[in-house]
Amino acid sequence: MARKYLVETFGCQMNFHDGERISGLLESEGYEPAASEAEADLLVLNTCSVRERAEEKLYSRLGEIRLAAASCDRQPQIAVTGCVAQQEGDALLTRNLPIDVVVGTQAIRQLPALLTEAKARQTPRVDINPYEDVSFPLGVAKASDPTRAWVTIIEGCNEFCSFCVVPYTRGHERMRPVADILAEVQRAADSGRLEVQLLGQIVNHYQAPDDPGCDFPELLRRVSQIDGLRRVRFASPHPRHASDRLIEVMQSTPKICRHFHLPVQSGSNRVLKEMRRRYSREEYLALVDRLRAAMPDISVSTDIIVGFPGETAEDFEATLDLVRRVGFSFIYSFKYSPRPNTLADKRMADDVQESVKTSRIMTLQQLQAEIQVSLFQAMIGRTVEVLVEGPSRRRDWEMTGKTPGWVTVNFPGPATLVGQLVTVRLTAAAPNSVRGELVEAASAH
Ligand code: SF4
Repeated sequence: MARKYLVETFGCQMNFHDGERISGLLESEGYEPAASEAEADLLVLNTCSVRERAEEKLYSRLGEIRLAAASCDRQPQIAVTGCVAQQEGDALLTRNLPIDVVVGTQAIRQLPALLTEAKARQTPRVDINPYEDVSFPLGVAKASDPTRAWVTIIEGCNEFCSFCVVPYTRGHERMRPVADILAEVQRAADSGRLEVQLLGQIVNHYQAPDDPGCDFPELLRRVSQIDGLRRVRFASPHPRHASDRLIEVMQSTPKICRHFHLPVQSGSNRVLKEMRRRYSREEYLALVDRLRAAMPDISVSTDIIVGFPGETAEDFEATLDLVRRVGFSFIYSFKYSPRPNTLADKRMADDVQESVKTSRIMTLQQLQAEIQVSLFQAMIGRTVEVLVEGPSRRRDWEMTGKTPGWVTVNFPGPATLVGQLVTVRLTAAAPNSVRGELVEAASAH
């Protein structure tokens, strides 16, 4: 009988897509998806270490699994993959946790062989080697999202922002050949998916290794020409690499969604310098102005860290001021936590008190909530295009989906609309979404 597996993913979109790759890889080796944890012969914990709290989740999850295994005679094989696996390696095995296999971010392909070896030898196996190969055979990633495909264009990062663990856990920057990317996007379009999201730590640093004339704007142009595809997105660009040509290509290509997730991290020039972000708040604001001058309807979202070492009340006020000026459509906000190997961890004291970090993040989130409500209220009465993702979280007779600007829209409608682009008239604003009514089941383009 086929062995059953379950993948639990923590963290970002890159990790979510790695979860799809792991699922596809296991299924190509004869594994089948388990309907529940109780049925699984193999549990894969696909981890994130970008924040301390994300890392702690792994340890508490492994503790739960050990307790569950002690209360019954069934013990699934446990594999830990992702950034914590890469960061900790063998050290994970010294913590008396139920782990059979540890596989780093660049060694995913080794997972099936290591599982077999660990079982045969009854001893844990670890592979965190920095394999250079960024390709993944077509057909392996299991597309679990029925509405959009996630396609990696770059792995790793060379930027070394002082707070960030990614260059250590995902390795140096490696670009995928443009031919592979276009083939994968074509396959997504052929499968009926109308939207593709291109992924990378710094997508706009892309330079095709197999075509010197293909940089990120050119890649976007080529992807947009693929028949059947209706929407193209990307995450995340770095402000330092956002060129005027990228803005021009976005402006002249309607398939590219009018959304720019542009991580700023802080509004204080002093903190930005300490973070080694290599742009100033003035340069960031000027970039937002250029984006809005070219595409007045574009929505801009961001990532912000509060409580970075040495952040003063004045620095934080500069962040609030930048948030007010830009009017972000949403923010991912985090309290700073020191990450192993990073420059900030080695050279700076984590000197902003936890209570101050908490109070700052609450102030920031309150401000953002007010901005979001006013942005949503300004949308009422408009007609928007929505890609339908599935039933809304609260009501199964209601569908949910995203506008090109990544605003969540809920509206009454049948489940047959999932995966389609529809037209919705917006009627009411909620804190994190907008409600509306269906105007047209299939939106014209
Ligand atoms: S650009 Fe900076 S924050 Fe983003 S992944 Fe690279 S090092 Fe981390």
